[in-house]
Amino acid sequence: MRPVPIGSMHYWEKDSVGWLTFPALEALPFVRHAFSTRLGGFSTGEFSSMNLNFGRGDPRETVEENFRRFCAAAGFSMESLTASAQDHHTTVRRVGAAERGVGVTRPRDRESVDGLITDDPSVTLVTYYADCTPLFFVDPAHRAVGLGHSGWRGTAAGMGACMVRRMEEEFGSRPEEIIAAIGPSIGACCYEVDETVYEGFAPLETLGLSNFFFRAGDGKYRLDLWEANRRILLAAGVLPEHISTARLCTRCNDSLLWSHRATGGKRGGLAAFLAVTPRGEDDGA
Ligand SMILES: [Zn+2]
Repeated sequence: MRPVPIGSMHYWEKDSVGWLTFPALEALPFVRHAFSTRLGGFSTGEFSSMNLNFGRGDPRETVEENFRRFCAAAGFSMESLTASAQDHHTTVRRVGAAERGVGVTRPRDRESVDGLITDDPSVTLVTYYADCTPLFFVDPAHRAVGLGHSGWRGTAAGMGACMVRRMEEEFGSRPEEIIAAIGPSIGACCYEVDETVYEGFAPLETLGLSNFFFRAGDGKYRLDLWEANRRILLAAGVLPEHISTARLCTRCNDSLLWSHRATGGKRGGLAAFLAVTPRGEDDGA
């Protein structure tokens, strides 16, 4: 299987299921990761066809079938999945074997979890998207990983820094060793926001708001969530050469990716997947 470059990511397809990966994370043999697309699922109508979000009206069995099909194509074990419960806050939860299946094959046991971290190879982290920014974290030294959901509220609250701090506390991760990736989300090309959003970023003033807010007239701004998140990660101690940015706008690519804005909210959802492999397995790959 050969990937097709798109943005700074790779597009893969198997059995009509399409997904994206970051070259920088592909290079880490003990990590498995993927970001889903709209392609290759069983859903119909406004959810057509790879909808991985349970909360939007698509029948539960169909979404589960989509997960099953995605996992089979992209190489994840369905039983290992454990999903977030996102509500635009910055709570990060460490998960392990006891949480296998939660939010996918078993009911949710959590409220308000926008970030997941683990060093347990028996689980695969899953977080959901449709314009918000996915943040991937890998600590090669401690074989730990994290996924964070960072829309404008999460970004304004420094979700990326919360993830780094929590990995430091839980695994002894050192920020300068963390490999981070900023996934597909709505780009500055398409993301017009109002004064309320601008004011919401007051806590990040020291990062220089003009680096990622651009005046668009009429009290509106264009917001660059990729650059805002990159600067948050840099300020948290992640090295510039350790940060990849997908440079893929969900709204510009709305036939490939779910975009809340492009669909007016009638949509399915994308998911990020991230796991570490057991020690000894894939090490020499
Ligand atoms: Zn765009």
